[in-house]
Amino acid sequence: MADYKKLADLLYPEATLTIEEIEKKYPARNLPEGACVTRLAPSPTGFVHLGNLFPAVTCERLSHQSGGTFILRIEDTDQKREVEGAVEILLSSLKRYNIIFDEGATADGEVGSYGPYYQRQRADIYKAYAKKLIAEGRAYPCFCSEERLEEMRKEQEQNKDNFGYYGKYAACSNLSYEEIEEKVKNGEKFVLRFRSQGDPSKTDHIDDLIKGRLEFPENDIDHVMLKSDGIPTYHFAHSVDEKTMGVTHVVRGEEWLATLPFHVQLFKALGFPLPHYMHVAQLMKLDNGTKRKLSKRKDPEASLAYYYEQGFSAGSVMEYIMTLLNSNFEEWRIANPTAPLDDFKFSPDKMSISGCLFDMDKLIDVSRNTISVMTAEDVYEQVTAWAKDNDSELYDKFTADPDYAKRILSIGRGCEKPRKDIAKWNEVKAYVSFFYDDLFTQSGEFPETVSSEDKLEILNRYSELYDENDDQETWFGKVTNLAEELGFAPKTKLYKKNPELYKGHVGDVSMVLRVAITGRRNSPDLYEIMKILGADKVKERLENAK
Ligand code: GLU
Repeated sequence: MADYKKLADLLYPEATLTIEEIEKKYPARNLPEGACVTRLAPSPTGFVHLGNLFPAVTCERLSHQSGGTFILRIEDTDQKREVEGAVEILLSSLKRYNIIFDEGATADGEVGSYGPYYQRQRADIYKAYAKKLIAEGRAYPCFCSEERLEEMRKEQEQNKDNFGYYGKYAACSNLSYEEIEEKVKNGEKFVLRFRSQGDPSKTDHIDDLIKGRLEFPENDIDHVMLKSDGIPTYHFAHSVDEKTMGVTHVVRGEEWLATLPFHVQLFKALGFPLPHYMHVAQLMKLDNGTKRKLSKRKDPEASLAYYYEQGFSAGSVMEYIMTLLNSNFEEWRIANPTAPLDDFKFSPDKMSISGCLFDMDKLIDVSRNTISVMTAEDVYEQVTAWAKDNDSELYDKFTADPDYAKRILSIGRGCEKPRKDIAKWNEVKAYVSFFYDDLFTQSGEFPETVSSEDKLEILNRYSELYDENDDQETWFGKVTNLAEELGFAPKTKLYKKNPELYKGHVGDVSMVLRVAITGRRNSPDLYEIMKILGADKVKERLENAK
């Protein structure tokens, strides 16, 4: 067609912004050499998938490790899926994981000079580039109705041809200016399609920073760039936004690999340099022995909100995400058990190429370790913050006497082999319950090997001999003596050798005490527990257990 420029004005007369103006408004960024500019580009659906953490952490690490910029761009082109407050939800959920943006959408407005950061507000920019492509003969309007496209599909099915709008099936690609003008004047709706010059018998490639070299046949489909309402498709917005925002690294899910050949074509047609691509593996889970994608619909654990509600500490989830993201992370963690996460050098070439298997048991395990090396103070702060929203009873107890709570949380902490009782904050109440009278329940059984007379004797005598000023050794000496006096072996070994000589062993005696004082058979160190409870409370519990 002779006058493509005229066609561009016919189709989008309202779009007057020029490429020169755009280029002036969005100059190259002035950043140190090697600095990465990354972006997270979610749709504002209000749902944050656990899988979103992969690109989010990757982008955050790459940009902040290199002195670059991390952008939040909102892909709000699909109004139907939009949920009010979605940006706030996203920002606050990611903030828990220390994922903070430098630029882009915020809870109120936007920051940065490469905006707008909401795609719907960028219509004039997309149209300017669309007009450039039309003027160069690389895009054309398509008036085909849904019915026409459906017929085309059927024809392709019959002919055993590939699906899509291309070659001989691309009916609107040869319309003359006059034909188009008439349709436009008649108010016929159109979408804008890319005029592909690709040849599927040829291959093209990119070097993905995670997956390595990716070869693919050239795309020959004339994909849609702008929908009939002028809203861009993901593909077109992707190319225009990365260029105008100066994004250097595109980190996204591997579901975009299928349309990558088209993206590469678009960048080339627009004269844009290709960004570095990083296609991140999808999160999978084992379901009855088979691997499948972690599903928003089927799996509650697919939602990031789930981890907060369940009381997983953000630090634990991040530790686990890092083990999935970087294959050398676990080794680094073993060598640096208490180093802050940011000290770890994140590297794209250590990322998993194929699917990442999400394993809840492993997360729980990682979480126990992570929490075990935290200080009691940190645990207290995090539990209290969580309980504020999720467990008012625990919150009230912990805030009424912070020192008492912290002493409880100090048990078995700060030593070489710290205790690993807690995996999630929603386990804390049960764990600390016996320290609070109104949460205390007598759920443990007294050992059957101890007769009720002996039990009574143990409780009575212990009540007299317990002195909270005793050191641990003295205290245990007293328990051993008591055991021996009542006919129990002072050492388990002795009992095992000659069981007929004893009623039981010292362990049975301390079990009676443990059950009486804590209400359970399993507890942390009894000596430490009694110190925190105080002598009066210990004696009261002994009395109540009679
Ligand atoms: N809006 C797209 C998504 O949520 C963004 C993908 C990308 O990062 O390019 O899947």
